[in-house]
Parts: sequence; C-alpha cells; structure tokens
Amino acid sequence: MNDVNDAFGRVINYLRVSVTDRCNLRCVYCMPPEGIGPIAHDQVLRFEEIARVVDAAVGLGVRRVRLTGGEPLVRRGIAHLVALLRRLRGLEELSLTTNGILLADMAAELKHAGVDRVNVSLDSLDSERYAAITRGGSLPRVLSGIETARQVGLNPVKVNMVVMRGVNDDETLAMARQSVEQGWHVRFIEMMPLGIAQHLCGESEGSLDGFEARVVSNSAVRSGIESFYGALEPTELASGGPAETWRVPGSGGSIGFISAVSHGFCSSCNRLRLTSEGGLVPCLFSDAVVDLREPLRRGADLAELQTLIRSAVALKGSGHHLAEHRVETDHEMSRIGG
Ligand code: SAM
Ligand code: SF4
Repeated sequence: MNDVNDAFGRVINYLRVSVTDRCNLRCVYCMPPEGIGPIAHDQVLRFEEIARVVDAAVGLGVRRVRLTGGEPLVRRGIAHLVALLRRLRGLEELSLTTNGILLADMAAELKHAGVDRVNVSLDSLDSERYAAITRGGSLPRVLSGIETARQVGLNPVKVNMVVMRGVNDDETLAMARQSVEQGWHVRFIEMMPLGIAQHLCGESEGSLDGFEARVVSNSAVRSGIESFYGALEPTELASGGPAETWRVPGSGGSIGFISAVSHGFCSSCNRLRLTSEGGLVPCLFSDAVVDLREPLRRGADLAELQTLIRSAVALKGSGHHLAEHRVETDHEMSRIGG
C-alpha cells in the first residue's frame, strides 16, 4: 500500500464523494430557489463506478471516505453503496454529511450497512428561521434525525453551522450551549465564497453589501462563546479534518471551528473530491477537474484509474490565498460535494 503525496508533501488520504447533485432543500448560500438543473441520470456515476474509484483511491492510501452531495440521502439505494464501499479492504472510515431531513427514517439502515458516523448541517435552532434559510426545511425532523443517529450509534454526530451575519450569528451561543447541555459536537463553519454564496447580498439589511459583509470570522464566534463560558479547553476528539476541537470545561460535547477563509487550512489539506458526474476535483478553489467517467465506462483498469487520481493530486495547489484576493470559481458546493 503506497501513500500518495502531492507536490507540497501533503499525504492525500481523504476522499469526499458527491453521490448526487439533487437536494430536498434550497439553502440560501448553496442553491437558488428553483434548484440547479439536475444532471441527466446517465451522466451520474453508478454505485459500481463509485466503488471502483474508491477502490483505486484506497489502493493509493485513501483511508477515509465521506458521502455527501447534494443531499446524499435522496439518492435511491444509498445504503447499497455504503455496503459496497464497506467491502473494500483498507478503508478505515466511512462517514456521511446530510441535512438530516431524512435521517430519522434512515439512520438505522445506514448504520447497519456500514456508515461509521454522520455530520448534520443545521444553521438555526429556531423553526421559522431554519425554514427560511433552507427554504422549507423542518427543524423538528432534523432534531429527530440527530437524536436517532446518536441512538443507533453513528457517533460522534457532528452538527455543522454555517454562520452568516444578520442571518443566524445571534445563535452561536445557543449552538455552543447544545454542546454543554446535550453533548452535541458542534462545528462552526465560515461561509466560503463559492457558487451562489458569492452573490449572497444583504437584501434584508440595508447596510450590508454582498458576500464579505455576511461572513463572520470564527475568531469572533469563539470570543463570543468564551466571553460567556470562559476559556475553551482543547479536547481529545480526533477531528481528522480542518476543525480545531475544543470544549467548555466539563462538558460532554465539543466545539470546532472550520475556518477556511480566515485560517487557511490548505497546508494540511489531505483531500480530493469526486463529483456525482465522475470528475475528480483537487481543490474547491480551483476549476481543475480530472474526468474519470469516460475512462470508467470504456473499462479502465485500477492502474489507469490510479494514474488519473495521481494526476489530480498533482494539480493541487499550495493554497487558495483567499486572504489576499478573491478567487473566482464556478464550483457549486451542491455539485462537487461540500
Ligand atoms: N446536503 C448535505 C448537507 O447540507 O449537509 C451535504 C452537502 S452540503 C453542500 C455540505 C456542507 O456544505 C453543508 O454543511 C453546507 O452547510 C456547506 N456549505 C454549502 N455551501 C457553503 C459555503 N458557501 N460555505 C461554507 N459551507 C457551505
Ligand atoms: Fe442542499 Fe446541503 Fe446545499 Fe442545503 S447545503 S441546499 S441541504 S446540498
């Protein structure tokens, strides 16, 4: 088993797989109200094709795979894909990111099929506001999904909140409180300038103008939490990703900060993304894509797929430099697997 290193010495051991571009919600920073034109079914990778790519990637040292989307739970038969991937020797962790709407119904089946743990996206604890941000989502369903996931053992369940000024930034303390009172593992995510988020304007706040005005830095979120709870302490919870993990002393949950914009985590970037159409994306902030669907469909063997995966890794840049200038990219989070 040989690890694959990129041009900057980073070991690539994590693959995020978008299983669909479709979604049952329309979050304001991710999709327009009408959704994005769905990809034709035959353009989307079949489960066996996804499993071949993952098999090739595992052979190159990928150890962790996350299923995402779009909304992965709307892809019919998703548990079957989980079972296929679970058979691959060398895959150490299989996780899933979901909006949680269908989770209460599917958590037990997913656990049984072999999902190790889930992340649930939840941007508000207020029903009306949640419905407004997601354009129609039901908060009680998500809360019930989180509870069911915990009960069936998809732990640690992490709850991800994208913080937006003037939208939900007054709820960061309430979310932190869930880590104390409910043992939640909360992750605050800085909004990234991707796809539709770049055009998110301050419609409801006359003085806000565009994306930059909406972004709340995680250092501001953290100081708000610490001014109430006192200094956070580091926790042992292995994050295995870009979140720094902390907790309110004595609490059972944890608090993490995913700060793509303010504290670029590019120097420790360990990941590749596979789109639902079979494109391998080396970096969120670059338009580079290596197509795997055509080679898959003409019968490429594992060695050829691995050569293509290595070529995608070779395209990874050193960093996004977002702090210095805006990066224009056409990537939509829902399409490339946020
Ligand atoms: N539908 C699933 C969900 O919402 O969890 C999985 C796909 S969604 C694209 C994955 C994650 O990306 C979600 O947590 C979402 O909040 C986040 N996301 C989408 N657009 C984003 C942006 N512009 N900046 C930061 N996070 C974003
Ligand atoms: Fe759907 Fe997830 Fe995008 Fe929200 S963030 S619209 S749930 S894909």
